[in-house]
Amino acid sequence: MKKHNFSAGPCILPEEVLKKASDSIINFNQDNLSLIEISHRSKPFVDVMDKAQKLVRELLNIPNGYSVLFLQGGASLEFLMVPLNLLKEKGKSAYLNTGTWAKKAIAEAENFGHVEVLGDSSEKNYNYIPKGYTITNDFDYFHCTSNNTIYGTQIKDFPSCPTLMVCDMSSDIFSRKIDVSQFDLIYAGAQKNMGPAGTTLVIVKDEILGKTGRNIPTMLDYNTHISKGSMFNTPPVFSIYVSMLTMQWLKDNGGIDWVERINQQKANLLYHEIDRNPLFEGTANKEDRSNMNVTFLINDKSKEDKFNKICEEAGINGLKGHRSVGGYRASMYNALPLESVQVLVGLMQKLANN
Ligand SMILES: *Cc1c(COP(=O)(O)O)cnc(C)c1O
Repeated sequence: MKKHNFSAGPCILPEEVLKKASDSIINFNQDNLSLIEISHRSKPFVDVMDKAQKLVRELLNIPNGYSVLFLQGGASLEFLMVPLNLLKEKGKSAYLNTGTWAKKAIAEAENFGHVEVLGDSSEKNYNYIPKGYTITNDFDYFHCTSNNTIYGTQIKDFPSCPTLMVCDMSSDIFSRKIDVSQFDLIYAGAQKNMGPAGTTLVIVKDEILGKTGRNIPTMLDYNTHISKGSMFNTPPVFSIYVSMLTMQWLKDNGGIDWVERINQQKANLLYHEIDRNPLFEGTANKEDRSNMNVTFLINDKSKEDKFNKICEEAGINGLKGHRSVGGYRASMYNALPLESVQVLVGLMQKLANN
């Protein structure tokens, strides 16, 4: 039986993408060679890279003047590449501390200069998005995390920003419409909503680079990768290929408009049940709740074992909450069908009814 995969990451990918990906390992493009044994400089792979970049541009409607990169090192390496490439000597940066990943990004930036935390929800175990702060133009850049994968919160309205705006969109890129022109740099590890682990998508406005006055090691310099079209060294070919297939799947089904609508339906369905069902309770502030990662607790502990058991029997995977929140976390990335959420909601109702 196919499982209902609510895993927070690496996450569910469309079945047809997985089939094509597995074919490519044995026989890529009917050429009797594997995708992972051909040169990354050969035409078949160069075409994959071109197509992947093109799909990112199309799906997100990226204006001119931005580069699209596929790098390695995960979103975690971006935590330090961002300050290295954007923070001026003796400069300062502004961050929002909205969870585990934001905190790690702050810690890396502190290695390079002064960091001011403009909003911080740690005192409430990150159950809300701070608001009402002001960003001033004496910061070299402002950094935020659009979706807090662990705590189940999401920025619904991005602040107006008189300096460069940088955003970690690892866990909600391609899930909703965004206006790329609002941002100067966006990054996202592939494995939450785009493809398998191994590559990191970076969208960067070209004109913001090369202004720090510091020496940047070659591999950590965005300009290296821009000038070589993400082929300065061997790129993670499999991860890029499968990401390309996932983006093609998204485009064929109707793009971001389509997926945003489905994602909203999934979120409405599950949050409605959490709010209605006396056995469960959401952990995040209602106005800041994430459409991707839904965090909730069970109120009646005596029913916990039973709930876990019926979930397992129904083939539900990855529902256990992160240790820093406890309870449950239902991650509902793009490829998770509405039916999987219906199954989960059905089980929550069943638990309440007997
Ligand atoms: C998972 C995650 C990361 C870390 O990504 P890696 O690719 O594993 O380094 C960073 N930020 C957010 C928001 C995440 O969800």
